[in-house]
Amino acid sequence: MSEFVDYVRSLPKAELHLHIEGTLEPAMLMNLAEQHQIDLPYSSAAEVERAYDFEDLQSFLDLYYLGASVLIDTDDFYSLMFRYLERCRDEGIVHTEMMFDPQTHTERGISFQVFMSGFSQAMDEAKRQWGQSSSLIMCFLRHLPEESAFETLKAAEPFKSQILSIGLDSAELGHPPGKFERVYAAAGEQGYRLVAHAGGEGPPAYIVDALDQLKVERVDHGVRCLEDEALVERLVREKTPLTVCPLSNVRLRVFENMVDHPIRQMLERGLNVSVNSDDPPYFGGYLLDNFDALHRELGLTREAARLLAVNSIRSSFIDEASRKDWLDQLGAPTP
Ligand SMILES: [Zn+2]
Repeated sequence: MSEFVDYVRSLPKAELHLHIEGTLEPAMLMNLAEQHQIDLPYSSAAEVERAYDFEDLQSFLDLYYLGASVLIDTDDFYSLMFRYLERCRDEGIVHTEMMFDPQTHTERGISFQVFMSGFSQAMDEAKRQWGQSSSLIMCFLRHLPEESAFETLKAAEPFKSQILSIGLDSAELGHPPGKFERVYAAAGEQGYRLVAHAGGEGPPAYIVDALDQLKVERVDHGVRCLEDEALVERLVREKTPLTVCPLSNVRLRVFENMVDHPIRQMLERGLNVSVNSDDPPYFGGYLLDNFDALHRELGLTREAARLLAVNSIRSSFIDEASRKDWLDQLGAPTP
């Protein structure tokens, strides 16, 4: 890889928008399907990769849920998590806040105990081996009713000490944030930090609703805020973190090509933007691949990359002492 990528690797960074189920590599998917004797409509990892030519968010989600169906036992969840955390170590991601989708698993009869033990064993092991910092964001699937989100919140109670935040993902269009207002209020009362996907496929109004109705501290994607000038001004004023995922945006056709991606304009406007990989193997790359694409196709500079790293640390929910340490290393003041 290039000198630019090596430079970005050397910057301490936080990844704040990453779906752990979306890190499933085609080879692991095929291996687990064979091990658990699950029939897939693909006969090789290469065939799975060819299916990654998505038309929109829904066509991706169809494949994503099919992929998740091979995750059965604690070892599967452990391996999935540990592989991603090794990737963090190799890419200079000093802290990660990973989303997971309980409903994708509980709907298939896989209990919280199974996936939570796999996740926490891997997170503990990575912490022990190389000091990896990580936490979990439990996401509700927005295409399901709010009642199901309430059931999930309830089922998570015994595992609450392992979960830092609540998020909202899956099909955005037609499922506005307001649908989950009550369950977000309940989660907030229980002490969870709150984030939500908004303004990726959905309109800018969903970003406003996520802020006002769900009381989120951070918006996942949020790129469509640029269509609403008053909203941009508010986001700049309130320094609201936006976790932007460039390769994902292009692969899901939010923007036709990387040259059309507005991340540089967003930075220039003073928006609090960070770069993230969303569902890396599905969208063509991990965090450094995103930076590489931004550099090659949009001319992202080292200084802009450093600012993006600073934003990622500032926008994370890491403890204040660690935040200060990483910001010092980046030569940035603690706000
Ligand atoms: Zn996402």
